[in-house]
Amino acid sequence: MEIIKYSEEHRIFREAAGRYIEKEVMPHVEEWEEAGVVSKDAWEKMGGQGFLCMDVPEEYGGLGADFLYSVILTEEMTKTNHSGLLATLHSDVVVPYITSFASEEIKKRYLPGCISGDIVTAIAMTEPNTGSDLAAIKTSAVEDGDAVVINGQKTFVSNGTTCDLLVLAARDPEVQDPYSAIDLYLVDAGTPGFEKGKKIKKVGWHSQDTAELYFTDCRIPIENRLGAKGSGFAHLMQKLQQERLMCAIGAVAGAEYMLEITIKYCKERSAFGRPISKFQHVQFEIVEMATEVKLGRTFLDKLIVDHMEGKNIVVDVAMAKYWTTDMANRVADRCLQLHGGYGYCEEYPIARAWRDIRVTRIFAGTNEIMKGIAAKFMGL
Ligand SMILES: Cc1cc2nc3c(=O)[nH]c(=O)nc-3n(C[C@H](O)[C@H](O)[C@H](O)COP(=O)(O)OP(=O)(O)OC[C@H]3O[C@@H](n4cnc5c(N)ncnc54)[C@H](O)[C@@H]3O)c2cc1C
Repeated sequence: MEIIKYSEEHRIFREAAGRYIEKEVMPHVEEWEEAGVVSKDAWEKMGGQGFLCMDVPEEYGGLGADFLYSVILTEEMTKTNHSGLLATLHSDVVVPYITSFASEEIKKRYLPGCISGDIVTAIAMTEPNTGSDLAAIKTSAVEDGDAVVINGQKTFVSNGTTCDLLVLAARDPEVQDPYSAIDLYLVDAGTPGFEKGKKIKKVGWHSQDTAELYFTDCRIPIENRLGAKGSGFAHLMQKLQQERLMCAIGAVAGAEYMLEITIKYCKERSAFGRPISKFQHVQFEIVEMATEVKLGRTFLDKLIVDHMEGKNIVVDVAMAKYWTTDMANRVADRCLQLHGGYGYCEEYPIARAWRDIRVTRIFAGTNEIMKGIAAKFMGL
């Protein structure tokens, strides 16, 4: 039974997105992996075709599209087997903070550029000394007349060197209660006192420019604060649900992709005079993986529907984030094993998929933190 009711328009969109990705994204993936970053014009092209920030209301230049368009695009992008052109981070994680919490003036100033791809966004929460414990961030934001002065350091910021606009989490050092000390601010790249560090060398995600960012007496206008003072933590709690759901969507789509290329490989590769897919062990491996992937897909699609209906699914999303990313990692390892020595070679896509999936258990809240959230909201 189909859990998600895709319309004819959704199907047409999936085909169009697939064709676009084939023509404009796939031919550049190797070059981006080598360069450690995606070229800016790839963002602009995507925006030009209407593939960025599709949910933004029409009054700001968006399409006012429903969440399924983001789901479809994320699934189709996953098949490119690279992480650099992180449209979902921009469109479904960062820009929603602006759409939901910025003033009218700020929305009119920034949203059209976010939609066109002229403005690439990033979000900076994590610091060198704190990641999981968000309430312990030290980057300070101190009011000074009609400005706010930022000092501190952020790390692991995706789109860190490419970003034109940053959503930054910082605290008022005078406020003791950590939950009302934090605010979110928009910081333009190029603001004096805001410096981008070097790209961080990572195990995977080679085309993604993850970077450190530094703030030294960086003055931004006070109207760049998103929402009322002291609301940053609440804003983050509200929006992190969609970030975790996007992560689960990527994990299930990634597992489906890895399984598909592995089944093909097993049918083509022969050993002892027959395709390896004819060995019972290989068949059982594939059937077990396919079962896990189907379970993940069923759980995920139900949550997508619930999310669109505005249901309270904090516990389920935390469970889905940890379970689907753990599952995708199990699938990655078993798929690589079925490729034999070739699985460990860059020429074979499973090698990059295996390497890149690892981080999904760490970011968007580690899987341990997800279990902690689920336990808390289950009243344990
Ligand atoms: C490629 C990549 C991209 C990223 N992109 C971004 C980004 O765009 N923006 C951003 O702000 N951050 C980003 N991050 C940061 C990421 O969200 C953090 O790394 C993550 O939240 C974990 O924080 P940490 O690294 O400080 O680990 P720590 O918090 O130090 O955790 C270390 C270990 O301790 C465990 N642990 C910590 N607390 C508990 C607890 N209470 N109970 C049980 N176990 C616990 C963790 O689960 C983990 O296993 C990215 C990270 C990577 C690697």
